[in-house]
Amino acid sequence: MTYKHTFHRHKTREVQVGNLVIGGDNPIIVQSMTTPDTHNLEATVAEIHRLEEAGCELVRVTVPKPQDAAVLGEIKRRIKLPLICDIHFDYKMALAALDHPVDKIRINPGNIGGMDRFRQVLKKAKDKGIPMRIGVNAGSLEREFAMKYGFPCPPAMVDSALRYIEIAESEGYHDMIVSLKSSDVLTVVEAYRLYAKQADYPTHIGVTEAGKAPYAVTKSACGLAPILLDGIGDTIRISLLGDPVPEIAAAFDILQATQRRVRKPELIACPTCGRLEIDLEDIIAKLEHRLAGKTTAIKISVLGCVVNGPGEAREADLGIAAGKGKGVIFKRGEIVRNVLEKDMVEALMEEIAKWEREEAEKGTLKHGAPSIQAAAREDEPHGNSAEQDDAGRIRLPMLN
Ligand code: SF4
Repeated sequence: MTYKHTFHRHKTREVQVGNLVIGGDNPIIVQSMTTPDTHNLEATVAEIHRLEEAGCELVRVTVPKPQDAAVLGEIKRRIKLPLICDIHFDYKMALAALDHPVDKIRINPGNIGGMDRFRQVLKKAKDKGIPMRIGVNAGSLEREFAMKYGFPCPPAMVDSALRYIEIAESEGYHDMIVSLKSSDVLTVVEAYRLYAKQADYPTHIGVTEAGKAPYAVTKSACGLAPILLDGIGDTIRISLLGDPVPEIAAAFDILQATQRRVRKPELIACPTCGRLEIDLEDIIAKLEHRLAGKTTAIKISVLGCVVNGPGEAREADLGIAAGKGKGVIFKRGEIVRNVLEKDMVEALMEEIAKWEREEAEKGTLKHGAPSIQAAAREDEPHGNSAEQDDAGRIRLPMLN
C-alpha cells in the first residue's frame, strides 16, 4: 500500500488578471516588483524583460507620481506579462492609474485616506473591469483595528481585510485578491491561516521586507512553507533587497520544495560525510548541468554510500546508491543496473530518458513549465498542456 500525503487547497474563487486566472485550482503564480522609478521607462521595461526571462509571470510597478501613471500604457505595450500598478497613500494616483491599460491594481485601503476614497477607487475599478489586490500590511494597519487588539496582530489584520471585503462587496465588486503581509514570520502564518477560515478570495502570499538574501530566502521559506502546506496561497512574491530577478528562482524553489508547483526534476543528494566513497559533488554538479532546463517532474536521488543510499534511492523515481568507486541504479525500488563511478552521470541520464519514454507511453509523464506564459507558447517544448480558452485565459493544470 502506498502512503499518500493529505492536502487540501484553500478553496478560493477565480479572479482573472490579464490572461492569467488566479485562485481556484490554478497553479500558484510567481510575481515580482520592479525597482527603478516607474517613469524611467527604459530601465523599468528592461527590468521587466529580465524578470520575464527568469520565469516571472506577473509584474508590479509602483505609481507614486503622475509621471509614473503616464507611462503605464507604454510599459504595457512593450511587455508580455500582466501589469499591476501598486498604490500607496494617494487615492488620486489609484484613479489616475486606472485610466491606463493595467491588468490589476494593488492598494492598501488603510493608507489612502478613508473609506470614501476607497469606495471611489472600487467604483472605478469595477467600471473598468480591473481586479484589485487588497494589501493589508501589519506595518500600516488602520489605527481602529490596531487599537482594538492593542497592536497589529493577526486577528487585527484579518478583521481589517474582512471589513474591506465587506465594503467592496457592498459596491458589487468581487474581483479581489487579498494579502496579509508582515515582516514577522509568525504573524504571516497566523494571519493567512485565520483568513482562510473566513473568506474565499484568493491570496497573494509573502513575507514583506524579508531583507537580504540568503537569510531573506530562508525567512520567506519559513513563513510561506507552513501556509503553502496548508493549501493557502494563489500568487507568491519573495521580497529580496536589491535586484528582483533572484526572487523568481527563490519563489519557484519554495513552491517546488513544498510540492505546490513542480517545474523541474527534484535532485536529492546526501550532504556527504566521512563514509563517502565517490566524488559526489562532482557528480551532482555534472547532473545539475545536464538537467538544466529540463522540466520533467521526476525525483532523482544520488547518495554517497550504502547507509541511507538504497533506502532513499527506493523512495525516488530513479536513484543511485554508491559504494567504493561504483554504485547501483534503482528505479522505483528495483535495482536496474550496476555502474562504475566514471559512468554514473551518463548511465543516470540514459535511465532518465528511458523512464520518460515509459511514462509517456503510459500517458503519465508530467512536466512543469518554466512559466505559465512559456507553457502557452507553441514554439516552446513542454509536455504539460497549457490551454488558452476563447477569452484568451491561460490555464495550466497543477502537477501535484
Ligand atoms: S549517504 Fe553515506 S556518505 Fe552520504 S551523508 Fe549519509 S552516511 Fe555519509
